[in-house]
Amino acid sequence: MPKARKQFAQHWLRSEQALSQIVTAANLQPSDRLLEIGPGTGILTQQLLPQVQSLVAVEIDRNLCKLLVKKLGKIDNFLLLQGDFLSLDIDKLLVSFPKFQQPNKVVANIPYNITGPILEKLLGSIAQPAVPGFDLIVLLLQQEVAQRLCAQPGSRTFGALSVRVQYLAECQFICHVPAKAFSPPPKVDSAVVRLHPQLVQPPAKEPKYLETLLKLGFASKRKMLRNNLKSVVERDRLTQLLEQLEIDSLARAEDLSVAQWVNLSDKLPILK
Ligand code: SAH
Repeated sequence: MPKARKQFAQHWLRSEQALSQIVTAANLQPSDRLLEIGPGTGILTQQLLPQVQSLVAVEIDRNLCKLLVKKLGKIDNFLLLQGDFLSLDIDKLLVSFPKFQQPNKVVANIPYNITGPILEKLLGSIAQPAVPGFDLIVLLLQQEVAQRLCAQPGSRTFGALSVRVQYLAECQFICHVPAKAFSPPPKVDSAVVRLHPQLVQPPAKEPKYLETLLKLGFASKRKMLRNNLKSVVERDRLTQLLEQLEIDSLARAEDLSVAQWVNLSDKLPILK
């Protein structure tokens, strides 16, 4: 096993159970074209490859790329791209490899230090959703983030990230993965999530307003929404709006569902 490098958030998954939970969650079909971010030593890659049409993996660490080429280089439905997932234009690169069409699913045990940017690259943002989106995204990530992605409104973990991601995808919490499933174990527990990219219906009329509204609304978590929005809307007007939308006037940001955020932003254009 190569020595794990902190700089690249390397933690090798070594639990057969966790591996099979990821593979099962991906609901693999022979026609699937997978994208894997951070294949590492290829432990997950090896399980995925025989079950799908193709797999494109992006790995930043040169030494691991050498090892992967040695291990899997002869397998003809495998393509390895060396580089930073966040800066590579994968669709453009794939034009040179006609056998590897655009991936339809993502399956990965990602580097936790860039979870936010990875999610944004895969799903896009409220103002610019990724189109065409992936059919399915299965990720092993930090449990705390997984809980936030899958949280229900009103719960302790429901926050701006929950709204942003749930606006763009349906999120399912698949299972908990303990730190000891990795070598070396990360400081935090992990979890598998499954995302089905699909825009919430109906989407916001002006997605930019929704972005701004979320930033303001969640600025101070413990405060009531009406206090967080004090600077942009008069209290009486907001109370009236909240009433119309059947939202408690004392609600906090974390109490509103994604649909309620969309409604509120449609009625409250605050970005001039
Ligand atoms: N999938 C492997 C390794 C997970 S650790 C396993 O389950 O064991 C995270 C992996 O992501 C490491 O291989 C690390 O080198 C790689 N990585 C880190 N930053 C990356 C980036 N920006 N782009 C692509 N790969 C990255």
